[in-house]
Amino acid sequence: MKNIAIIGAGMTGLSLAYNLQEHNITIFDKSWRPGGRVSTRKHDNYLFDHGAHYLSTNHSVNQLNEVISRYNSGRVIDIDFATDYLKNKKTRKKIIIGQNGMNSIPQSIFDNIKVKSYLSSKIIKISKNSNDLFSLFSEKEEFKDFNYVLICIPYLQSKELSKNFIDFTQIVSEPSYDPIHTVMLCYKDNNNINIKAGLNLHKDISFFMNQNIKFNELSHDCWVLNMSSEYTKNNIDIDKIALEKYAQSIFEETFDIKNEISFIKSHRWLYAQTKFSYNTISKKNWINSKDNKIFLSGDWVLGKSLSDAWDAGEKLSHYIKIL
Ligand SMILES: Cc1cc2nc3c(=O)[nH]c(=O)nc-3n(C[C@H](O)[C@H](O)[C@H](O)COP(=O)(O)OP(=O)(O)OC[C@H]3O[C@@H](n4cnc5c(N)ncnc54)[C@H](O)[C@@H]3O)c2cc1C
Repeated sequence: MKNIAIIGAGMTGLSLAYNLQEHNITIFDKSWRPGGRVSTRKHDNYLFDHGAHYLSTNHSVNQLNEVISRYNSGRVIDIDFATDYLKNKKTRKKIIIGQNGMNSIPQSIFDNIKVKSYLSSKIIKISKNSNDLFSLFSEKEEFKDFNYVLICIPYLQSKELSKNFIDFTQIVSEPSYDPIHTVMLCYKDNNNINIKAGLNLHKDISFFMNQNIKFNELSHDCWVLNMSSEYTKNNIDIDKIALEKYAQSIFEETFDIKNEISFIKSHRWLYAQTKFSYNTISKKNWINSKDNKIFLSGDWVLGKSLSDAWDAGEKLSHYIKIL
């Protein structure tokens, strides 16, 4: 049995923990909850999936779908989806959403796997002792005696944390991310918008999704808008109120809304979605230290979806099993 530390309880870290349960696993996350970018947020009485919105049913035979069914943490819905709103292209689409918001998916995996965990524990340093065992350090504590360390956080942060163990000069072309501003907004009165989600609402809004189809308890008409990566990059430090007003004005103009908003808030995701995956560049499925003891994984290895994150963790777990 190996003592394995997993840094990051997003979908990649959870996939590794799920697939390596026969080992002695300890999982760390800086946040108070698991899931990372699969994030369901409650503000007042409003609920929003303001990170990942849904899982595509294209990946219908992968392990993640089996896990979602086993823990009953997701459901398939049929929605009217604009594949390109600006070009008036619409379709009826089947998607998978969380039972109680998207975060039900990672939360149920976290609750069902029996591994030691430390939430609200940001790992800031890794060191190796004379017995070839690793220690991890948060600001307050040292966690000792790990044979392997699996780092499952966005690429640039992984690089910073592992730079004393991995020679990054060997990595010719690095994976990169697009940032996204998300805007959550609600109206007391129903705007009766038929299309429930879609792409390209406007040149500056790349995605929109209604939240009432996800959360039955919502009495107001609630939406999440993703600003396009291009817009976000050009307005990375925009004042939040200016951003929210701009997004609201586009939404209201597009759907001819006269009702007043009851809630609005925005969030900036700096590392939202993978732009160039590591596998596309290198054909490799993880980055490792020379001694094969420290590994880096994440959605950035394979692509930009939470299925990619899960698959990246699963692939690495097969390798760890044979070490
Ligand atoms: C706005 C937005 C919309 C999206 N929409 C979709 C969608 O509709 N469908 C889809 O499939 N995907 C979507 N995605 C992408 C999807 O959310 C990600 O691909 C996936 O969740 C990434 O999982 P991960 O585990 O690789 O990384 P993360 O989710 O980022 O997990 C990393 C974890 O590590 C923790 N962490 C970071 N640093 C440390 C540290 N030093 N110590 C301890 N813990 C640390 C973080 O708190 C986090 O929990 C979206 C993402 C965003 C942001």
